[in-house]
Amino acid sequence: MIEVACRYDKPVRIGVNWGSLDPDLLARMMDANAALALPLEADAVMREALVVSALENAQRAIDVGLSADRIVLSAKVSHVQDLIAVYRNLAARCDFPLHLGLTEAGMGSKGIVASSTALAVLLQEGIGDTLRISLTPEPKGDRTREVLVAQQILQVMGLRAFTPTVVACPGCGRTTSSFFQELAQQIEGFLQGRMPTWKVQFPGVEQMHVAVMGCVVNGPGESRLADIGISLPGAGEHPSAPVYMDGERVMTLKGSSIATDFTQLLDAYVAARYGKNPQARSRLLELLKPAQLIAPDE
Ligand code: SF4
Repeated sequence: MIEVACRYDKPVRIGVNWGSLDPDLLARMMDANAALALPLEADAVMREALVVSALENAQRAIDVGLSADRIVLSAKVSHVQDLIAVYRNLAARCDFPLHLGLTEAGMGSKGIVASSTALAVLLQEGIGDTLRISLTPEPKGDRTREVLVAQQILQVMGLRAFTPTVVACPGCGRTTSSFFQELAQQIEGFLQGRMPTWKVQFPGVEQMHVAVMGCVVNGPGESRLADIGISLPGAGEHPSAPVYMDGERVMTLKGSSIATDFTQLLDAYVAARYGKNPQARSRLLELLKPAQLIAPDE
């Protein structure tokens, strides 16, 4: 089956689908392959048929008047190795922009891992111009996860930034409770909630790195490397949480309000670092008032 998505003068996606490949074309190619002295495996012929079908249909569209520079090609394939092979082949044989995506990738982590694996290989090779993620939602689930996964693939590969990155350690025997995991989750939620406003008010904030670490072993180091970070106390450590901004230790949080205090600091830091209002700097300094500053060797 050929899919053509068209809207006025916008790009036109010409897609071919593994599950509904032109049966005549496939039969012709299978027959030609069978006549070879050394026939290819059936899978290889199907991959080639998919590529040929996409290219032929693009040519057909051009022949009936569609401008070549409006065409985007898409090949819907549901296995990782097939997707990689088909897109490498398409990239080598045409200059059309390519729309990537593993179709019917599945549910939950399996679908995310399969999509990420396939797309990472292609994107790393410079193949792909637009992408989609195709996940089966949980019952009553929605489709927003597909968009989030697509954004996260581009972000972790350093190709685009959509939202600040939270660097959180995995936790180990040094962590005394699940507090740092809860804080990391809370920070993620806080950033997601703030982004609709931040991205308008504070351009560049999507590049920010926030570290939430579980003990003194790696906590200070990772926090210094982040734009803003907190190192929570591990087992047997002094019950305090040093906070770092732009590579410097700026204060230490203590007590039961560490989470709220840190999100408040985060808010003030973003406004001061990415905003244009000079008062934002004063607000941040007010939060970092001298009484709370900690000597470097404490
Ligand atoms: S930073 Fe500390 S708590 Fe986190 S994984 Fe490393 S050693 Fe464990």
